[in-house]
Amino acid sequence: MGVRMAIAIALLAMWASAAPADEVRQLKFHHNSDGALHFVQTETVAGAQVFWSERSQVLIPHPAGTVHLSGDREFEIIERALDAWNAAALTCGDGIRLTLGEPEPGEVGFDRINRIVFRDERWCAPIDCDAFCGRREDCRGGEVCHNPSAAGLTTLCYNVESGEILDADIELNGVSFAISDGGLSEAGGSELADLANTFTHEVGHFIGLDHTCWNPENGPQPSDHQGNLVPDCRATALLTPEIREATMFATQTNGETKKATLEQDDIDGLCRIYPADTGGCGCTAGSGNPGSAVLLVFALVLAVLPRSRQSACRAGRFSD
Ligand SMILES: [Zn+2]
Repeated sequence: MGVRMAIAIALLAMWASAAPADEVRQLKFHHNSDGALHFVQTETVAGAQVFWSERSQVLIPHPAGTVHLSGDREFEIIERALDAWNAAALTCGDGIRLTLGEPEPGEVGFDRINRIVFRDERWCAPIDCDAFCGRREDCRGGEVCHNPSAAGLTTLCYNVESGEILDADIELNGVSFAISDGGLSEAGGSELADLANTFTHEVGHFIGLDHTCWNPENGPQPSDHQGNLVPDCRATALLTPEIREATMFATQTNGETKKATLEQDDIDGLCRIYPADTGGCGCTAGSGNPGSAVLLVFALVLAVLPRSRQSACRAGRFSD
């Protein structure tokens, strides 16, 4: 039982204009025609649902990869995860296409390059004020450390008013966890974070999906448009199989691998956000003016929490 873990996802948001820091946006469930609870699309604090207007996105991995996996195995795994989402997109018209680019060094930040960075030494990200998602005067520099319970983290930079995603970066935690493949990791250790499991989930955040249940520490419990409360992630009796088994479910267990394969709920979410491009959806890349855009840094954390809650590196919205 000692290695039994509960997992949670936490949300962290930093408002780039007048709203208070750490304000958290509302979640909203969508409903099928049969009324069943379904996937959740990330929303901005202004109520816009996030999306990529440019339907072809490239993700650039840092060449260092991770020492936890041998050879280039990590790149094979992340490419396979992207392909899983691409295959899902094909079922509804090829609405988005994700490509793994050639590795290149670089850090997370608002540079319109979608980066994948493994953190094997410090589970922290340096803050470059020249690539700050928000008003530069609000940037304090330094570095930000993430929730040590988080196996992965996706940060979206988007326009609060339109919801258009402008940049997205994925970080993977090789400090708190042994990043594993099939239950094996060069790092040893008993707390395994299967890379395919974690990364496939993070890609869901990358395209604009949120978790299929609500975390109480992320704000008031929201209601959907039918007035139904979104179920608490900890209220296990309320979590339907569609919610619990989804890749976008908010928790994972030690060494779990089932999130590497998408469920119908995840695919429905993808297809809702990215239906077949009919040419009439205004799918043109934004002009992109970081100086004037109202932006929001939004981080989604795939967290693995042991029985006793771990505190986050900074005050905020991390929770189980
Ligand atoms: Zn997540």
